Amino acid sequence: MSTQTRTSIVWDYAPAPEATDHVRLRERYGLFVAGEFRQPADGRYVPTTNPATEQPIAEVAVAGPRDLEAAVRAAREAQPGWAAVPARERAKYLFRIARLIQERARELAVVETMDGGKPLRESRDVDIPLAAAHFFHYAGWADKLRYGVNARETRPLGVVGQIVPWNFPLLMAAWKLAPALACGNTALLKPAETTPLSALLLAEIAQEAELPPGVMNILPGDGALGAALVRAPGIDKIAFTGSTAVGRDIQAALAGRATRLTLELGGKSANIVFEDAALDQAVEGIVNGIFFNQGHVCCAGSRLLIQESVLEEVVGKLWRRMGQLRVGDPLDKNTDVGAINSAEQLRRIEALVAAGEQEGATRRTIACELPERGYWFAPTLFTDVSPVHRVAKEEIFGPVVSVLSFRTQAEAIEKANNSPYGLAAGIWTDKGAKAFEVASALKAGVVWQNTYNHFDPTAAFGGYKESGFGREGGPAGLRPYLEVVR
Ligand code: NDP
Repeated sequence: MSTQTRTSIVWDYAPAPEATDHVRLRERYGLFVAGEFRQPADGRYVPTTNPATEQPIAEVAVAGPRDLEAAVRAAREAQPGWAAVPARERAKYLFRIARLIQERARELAVVETMDGGKPLRESRDVDIPLAAAHFFHYAGWADKLRYGVNARETRPLGVVGQIVPWNFPLLMAAWKLAPALACGNTALLKPAETTPLSALLLAEIAQEAELPPGVMNILPGDGALGAALVRAPGIDKIAFTGSTAVGRDIQAALAGRATRLTLELGGKSANIVFEDAALDQAVEGIVNGIFFNQGHVCCAGSRLLIQESVLEEVVGKLWRRMGQLRVGDPLDKNTDVGAINSAEQLRRIEALVAAGEQEGATRRTIACELPERGYWFAPTLFTDVSPVHRVAKEEIFGPVVSVLSFRTQAEAIEKANNSPYGLAAGIWTDKGAKAFEVASALKAGVVWQNTYNHFDPTAAFGGYKESGFGREGGPAGLRPYLEVVR
C-alpha cells in the first residue's frame, strides 16, 4: 500500500464544530404508533451510538411482533379516513411537514450527523433540504394524482410497509413517506437499526403537524423486524431500500402474494471519463461521486472508467485532489469525509479492500490523522484493477474507488454494462451527442452528464437488473403507491 502526505502546502483550518446545544433529544424513544409514542410491548430498548465517538446518544425501542401487529392495525384503521380526506387537505398536511422540517433543519442536520457519521456539511446542505423538498413536491401532487398517471382514475393501495437503510435516514424516509401519504395510503416505516433518530424526530413533526393518528407509524427495530414487516398480514405494499441480498430475500418472501413490491438495491455504478472532458471538472465530479457520504451511497461512482489517453493525467489529478480531503469529526463544518456508519460496515470495507490487494490491484490510501475513537476509513484509490477483481465487481459502500481504463466508446459502454447492477452512471464529455449516445446504451436507471450524485425530487430514481425495480421521485414515484382503476 502506498500513502501520501497531503499537498506540499499544508492548509491549516481552525476547528469549526457545529454547536449541539440546540438539539433536544430525549433519553429514550419509544415506537410511534397511532399518533403517539409508546413503550415496546416487551420493553426492549437498545442504545443508538455516534459512530464518530462510539458514545451512546439515546435509547431506542425495538419493536416486537405485538408492536408490529398493533401498528398494522392502527394503519389499517386510519387508512379509509385518510383516503377520504379531500386531496387538497391531504396536501396541506404534507406541506406542513415540509415546513416543519425546514424549521427544525439545523437540529435535524446535527442529529443525522451524530447518529450516522456523515459530514454536517452534507446533512445540512443535502439530506435535510432534500427531505423537505420531497414533502413539498408530493404535497403538490396530492390533488393532481390522475395527471401523474396519464389521466387515469386511481385509488390508494392501502397500508404500506417501508424499510429504509442507514446511509440517508431522513431522506429515504421522505422519499418513501411523502408519495405514499400523498396518494392516500397509510404507512409503517422501519428505520435502520444504527440510524433511527431522525425518523423519530419526523414522528414528532407529524404530531406537530397534527397528522391524523395512524397515518404515519415509525417502528424502530432490527433486521428481524424488517423481515416480520415484509411477512405481516394486512400490508398491501412493501417498499425497500438496502442491500441486494436482503432485497432478494424480500422478493422470495412475497412471491405468490398480492403484496406489491418495489426494491431499490445496491450498485457498482460506472463513472466514465472521456478524453474530451473538462478534466479538472471531471475530477471534482469523481470526488463527489465516490467520497460523498463516505461512499455510503447506493449510486456511488465506485467504478471509474477512464479513457486510456488521459488515464495517467486523470489519476494524477485525482490523487492530488484526494490528498486535500479532510477526514474527521463529522460535526466540523470543514470535514469532507466523516465516520463510517458502524463497526460492521467498517469490517466489510476493510475485507473488500484487503481482497483488492490480494488480487493484485495497486492500493493508494491518503495519509491523514484519524481520530482514535470511532470508525474511520481514509479515502482510497485502486489502480491496475481488472474487471474480475472483487473491488471492480462488488459494492464496497465505502470511500474506495476502483479505476479501469478503456480505449473506445464501444468498450466504455461494454465495460460499464458488465455488471449485475444497473443503478446509475456518470458520463464526462464535451460532446453532447456522444453523451446522449452513451447514455442510451447504458443499462442504468440514472445517468448523469458532467455531474454526479445530483438529486432532485422531480426526477425519477431507481434501478435496472439487480439494482431493483420501481421508481422513486417525480410523477413516476406516485405509481408504486396507486392502483389504476380505469
Ligand atoms: P440491509 O439491506 O441489511 O439493511 C437495509 C434495511 O433493511 C435496514 O433497515 C435493515 O434493518 C433492514 N433489514 C435487514 N434484514 C432484513 C430482512 N431480512 N428483511 C427485511 N428488512 C431487513 O443493509 P446493511 O445495513 O446490512 O448493509 C449491508 C450492505 O448493503 C452494505 O455494505 C451495502 O453494500 C449495502 N447497502 C446498500 C444500500 C443501498 O442503498 N443500496 C443501503 C444500505 C446498505 P437493520 O439495519 O435494522 O438491520
